[in-house]
Parts: sequence; structure tokens; C-alpha cells
Amino acid sequence: MPYPATERLSTNRSAEPANEQRGVIFHDSGLSFEETIARAVKPGAAVSYHCVIAPDGSQCTLVPDAQVARHAGVSTFLGRSGCDAFTLGVAFAGDTNASPLSSHQLASAVEWLARRWKARGWTPESVTDHRQASGGREKDLNPVEWARLKAALSARFAP
Ligand SMILES: [Zn+2]
Repeated sequence: MPYPATERLSTNRSAEPANEQRGVIFHDSGLSFEETIARAVKPGAAVSYHCVIAPDGSQCTLVPDAQVARHAGVSTFLGRSGCDAFTLGVAFAGDTNASPLSSHQLASAVEWLARRWKARGWTPESVTDHRQASGGREKDLNPVEWARLKAALSARFAP
């Protein structure tokens, strides 16, 4: 059964030009699920994600896939800079450097990806995290938690 999903559209998004959706950057928000949503819908806040995932696996859509969210900042992925233009940003609520992802968060992330994977032509190389895309400037995800996510993706999306 799918995890519960709600929608609370962020004011921090742009519709034009459309998001190219070439890949996905995972984050942790450093905040609770509710705090992450509150920050994303606050006018003028400089951060938003396409989706935030709660410890119980619940998902909240903050920015439609076709639009650009403000999640990556100065960043490089897939040989290009300015990742907000061509990636989707998914945040796990919480701080992965303080506590591990829940099994529900991992399963919910895989479910979120599976709904999009084939249509967008994604491969495991289409997915990264903010720590890697920012050249180590950002601390999300904890490398141990990234490895857990990567293993879950490999298990689900093996060729
Ligand atoms: Zn981040």
C-alpha cells in the first residue's frame, strides 16, 4: 500500500523554464516534517523541495515535478552546474548526521522514485545527494545513510 501523500505548494518555486528532470538530489532538511513544510510555504524563504518524506514514510509534495525548486544552490551533477534547473529535490525530514533514516523513509523514497523512473529514463547514476552535488560544502546526507539509500535503489532498480 502506498505511503500517504499530501500537497502543500511552496511559494519558493518557478514554473518557467520547466524543470528538465534529468535526475534527483536527496537531502535531509535538518528539521521535522512539519517544520520543513512550514519553511517551504513561507513566502521569501530561500529553500524548497519537490517532496519531503516523514519518518513514518508520509510524503508531502511542495513543488510540482515540472517546476523548479530551490534545493541545491551552488552545485554540480551529471557534468552540469546549477542543478535546480534539471533535477528534482527530495528531502528526508530530520538530520541524517544525528540519526539514521527510518526504514519507512527508505521505502517511501524508493516508492517515490518508482512512480517516475521509467518515464524519465532514470538509472542509478541519475540519483545523488546534496553532499556530493555541493562538492562537500553541504553535509546531507550522512555518507552511511547515502550508502543505505543507494543499496535500496540498486535492489529495486537493478537492470
Ligand atoms: Zn540539502
